[in-house]
Amino acid sequence: MRPGAVEAMLPFFSERFANPSGSHRFARDARRAVDEARDQVAEVLGVSPGEVVFTGCGTEADNTAILGVGGLAVCGAAEHPAVLHPTEHRGGIVVGTDTAGHIDLDQLADVLSPDVAIVSVMAVNNEVGTITDLAAVSRLVRSLAPGALLHTDAVQAVCWLDLRQIAPLVDLMSFSAHKFGGPKGVGVLTIRDGVKLAPLISGGGQERERRSGTHNVAGIAALTSALVETDHQRISENARLAGLRDRLIDGLSGAIEGVVETVQRDRKTAGSAHVCLDGIESESLLFLLDQADVCASAASACASGAMEPSHVLAAMGVEHSLAMGALRMTLGHTTTVDDIERAIDVVASSVQHLRRVAVARP
Ligand code: PLP
Repeated sequence: MRPGAVEAMLPFFSERFANPSGSHRFARDARRAVDEARDQVAEVLGVSPGEVVFTGCGTEADNTAILGVGGLAVCGAAEHPAVLHPTEHRGGIVVGTDTAGHIDLDQLADVLSPDVAIVSVMAVNNEVGTITDLAAVSRLVRSLAPGALLHTDAVQAVCWLDLRQIAPLVDLMSFSAHKFGGPKGVGVLTIRDGVKLAPLISGGGQERERRSGTHNVAGIAALTSALVETDHQRISENARLAGLRDRLIDGLSGAIEGVVETVQRDRKTAGSAHVCLDGIESESLLFLLDQADVCASAASACASGAMEPSHVLAAMGVEHSLAMGALRMTLGHTTTVDDIERAIDVVASSVQHLRRVAVARP
């Protein structure tokens, strides 16, 4: 977490610990904290304070959008499971992607009809970092399904994109604090004024009946602190991290053969360094990296004893054998030049080791 976000939480565990729905002076103080947070969040997200709904996580925000609308949902095949699963469970339509992971606009156009209640297209892909052209998606949805709502899962967008430019294009946006230096277990769903959604969680009627449950005041304060700081640093961090990301991928490509960049750099965020390593099994590589304190992921799921490549790479049409060697490295506000140099050394020597062992095996 960002140190400022940790600091912002602390008073709400002690002297400011009150339920903002109460009526005494301490409750009013906690309510003021939530109101102030809502104003600041709204400013960064480019919406009005009444359009901000605090949730328990990004998954809840996504589920509320898809399930709360109730009718036919459409989404892309590379969406996070928090969008994909509710869409599929409700009998929605899943549209294919191109080789960079963008939703296929021709396929989307083919399925848009007056029956569609909601279209959900992520702003940034969580595995490979692809940035969606939401203006193009918005134009298409508004012209071919003007009655449909447009939702974007912007959970991975906060560090990289100006949300004030995205907000006017869509009706609903999802966010999660732990993706930008805030705590886990708190998120936001923005709901454009006038849009009616059935709440996923009903009870005490908090958040203007849109999300019941006692407010996580400490989490909301920390989310807000992290969001404001991320927004202030966004432009300089984009430039700094793009340089480090390029050094990481170029350093790896120079040290070992068979490094395939999954998505072109100009189509993805500065923090994403996803590559596929020819002839390598991610599982073995991640084990060696972990032993050397380099923490990365592959986004593979183990199904029926066999490692399956990620649904995102499958949607992009990445060849099965190459997808089995996926390595997902991400950079953020804590990443330093030294981290990058060490990662290059460790990944390169681990890959070389695995290749030597494979050759030596009878
Ligand atoms: N959507 C995307 C794109 C994500 O990357 C994540 C988290 O990994 C989520 C949704 C879910 O957010 P949360 O972990 O807060 O439930």
